[in-house]
Amino acid sequence: FTYLAQADPAVASAISAELTRQRGSIELIASENFTSTAVMEAVGSVLTNKYAEGYPSKRYYGGCEKVDIVEDLARDRAKELFGANFANVQPHCGANANLAAYFALIKPGDTVLGMSLDNGGHLTHGSPVNFSGRLYDFHGYGLTEDETIDYDALERMAHELRPKLIVGGASAYPRVIDFERMAAIAHEVGAYFMVDMAHIAGLVAAGAHPSPVPYADVVTSTTHKTLRGPRGGLIVCNDEEIAKKIDKAVFPGSQGGPLMHVIAGKAVAFGEALRPEFKEYIDRVVANCAAMAEGLTAGGLRLVSGGTDNHLCLVDLTPADVTGKDAEKLLERVGITVNKNSIPNEPRSPFVTSGIRVGSAAATTRGLTAQEFRRVGELIAATVFAQGDDAKLESVAAEVRGILDAHPLYPSYDF
Ligand code: PLP
Repeated sequence: FTYLAQADPAVASAISAELTRQRGSIELIASENFTSTAVMEAVGSVLTNKYAEGYPSKRYYGGCEKVDIVEDLARDRAKELFGANFANVQPHCGANANLAAYFALIKPGDTVLGMSLDNGGHLTHGSPVNFSGRLYDFHGYGLTEDETIDYDALERMAHELRPKLIVGGASAYPRVIDFERMAAIAHEVGAYFMVDMAHIAGLVAAGAHPSPVPYADVVTSTTHKTLRGPRGGLIVCNDEEIAKKIDKAVFPGSQGGPLMHVIAGKAVAFGEALRPEFKEYIDRVVANCAAMAEGLTAGGLRLVSGGTDNHLCLVDLTPADVTGKDAEKLLERVGITVNKNSIPNEPRSPFVTSGIRVGSAAATTRGLTAQEFRRVGELIAATVFAQGDDAKLESVAAEVRGILDAHPLYPSYDF
């Protein structure tokens, strides 16, 4: 970081402080991860200087031969990773990937079914404050009494509303999603089926969650969650005609020049995900999350749906009589980073909530073991039950520091 520290000490010191912050807490935000230093190097490269509107060998600018190599590597690796015939690696983020997919498949005003936000869906699955809810007629499907997706109700809704598109995938759903069943429901009523696998993309790549790719017409994703790449979006599909529409919907439909430095980071991350070590990593992510779930339950908290099959748990804080907002602050005090999250039938506002969402992807990258994750689950419970008990909170903080010190983050990397 020698150049930046000299040229702009204010920005350099904020970045350095952020590295210290990342090192100094157990990161349990389920949508975050720590990329490799190789990915960060690619993202910080001269590729940020290059305009490359268009696609490899069909660009609107000269001098694209080298970035073509990078984008082809990213596309080919994405196809191999997900067993798909086509990949578009240009979406700047997950929201842009979804925008492009909607743009390719449906028209403004069309009816769409997506998982309702208060049951775990994403903003881009029909929130009224998001382009999705403003441009399309979204209807939300939800959960059964046991807090798993209500496929029967979804099927009834599909027959009643005759949507043009059904969207699968979620931001806060701890169970396996039955993409085959959802595809059958969509295709029964002549709708397209799209899956936003942003959260579980790493699990899908490693075979730890059934892949949507054989069933969905289009699959969108982010690249920075369990997939452990740079921040960005991705779209894969199998049908050539749909692939052409997707390419057009990304560029020129909704974006200008692609972020070639980020695409380089995606290529590196997809290469990493194709190696056997990534499968071992994801197996640890899932086992660690199960261990954390045990600790949370042993500590007296309730898990939505009773447990987890993937990288995240949704925790109902009602037994501790604390809000999600307060729990987030208490946990920050002891060195554990989480986000507040609504629970099914949430009585509080989304800014307050009765739950938190915790994920194992980032802290598994850092090296925490299953035993430590179980303990972290217990420590979370101890913290939220210890509101106002400073001595207890200090003893939890000391234990958290011990776990962090045993697993330094980016040990050979500095600014
Ligand atoms: N889709 C899902 C399911 C998500 O959880 C998220 C982000 O959390 C997104 C899309 C949006 O991704 P981005 O923040 O990169 O736009």
